[in-house]
Amino acid sequence: MARYTGPVCRLCRRETEKLFLKGDRCFSTKCAVERRNYPPGQHGQGRKKVSQYAIQLRQKQKLRRIYGVSEKQFHRYFEKAAHIKGATGEAFLKLLERRLDNVVHRLGFGASRAQARQMICHGHINVNGRKVDIPSFLVKANDLISLKEKNKESSDKNAAAYKNFVGGLGARLEQVMSRGLPAWLELDAAARQGKVLHIPGREEIPTQVNEQLVVEFYSR
Ligand code: SF4
Repeated sequence: MARYTGPVCRLCRRETEKLFLKGDRCFSTKCAVERRNYPPGQHGQGRKKVSQYAIQLRQKQKLRRIYGVSEKQFHRYFEKAAHIKGATGEAFLKLLERRLDNVVHRLGFGASRAQARQMICHGHINVNGRKVDIPSFLVKANDLISLKEKNKESSDKNAAAYKNFVGGLGARLEQVMSRGLPAWLELDAAARQGKVLHIPGREEIPTQVNEQLVVEFYSR
């Protein structure tokens, strides 16, 4: 399935919880989940019998939507995790967490994973001093993530996105520092550079999801 381009607040409402897909708006009273905390659609407020399958499916969809990954790619991560020694759910979550778009977002360079993804695709992110324009790139321990100066040949469309990106960057980095950075990342706000200290353990991944249910969903 192609990338979802519809209204993202609808995805949060479907899970009846905040997935933080929109940056600053998610922390304001304009958040759709705060206003209408029930699933969208005609039958959103109807009573439903919830099966075990539905519980597993919702956890899977929630995790996939948080990281903004297509079903095909998401399933590929699961297959990769299943071959890693140890708990599959934890390995699965670690793979998702190591994605470059997630790390750029966690460091505060991108207000949301979608924005982080856009800036990576536009070539504004360096890893260890070299441009990386693949959002699914997996970071390793000791990798240095930094902002690249604007490319002079970039199109007007890219320039507008870049302006939007760097516009609130200072305030965003301050917010990230005040909310607290995950222990596996380090941020030098002045140098606009972040470092991966180590690969995160489950307890260092702030994603609120029951990954065991996702494993059960794919193991049916
Ligand atoms: Fe989800 Fe953010 Fe929209 Fe709230 S504002 S519903 S958290 S995407």
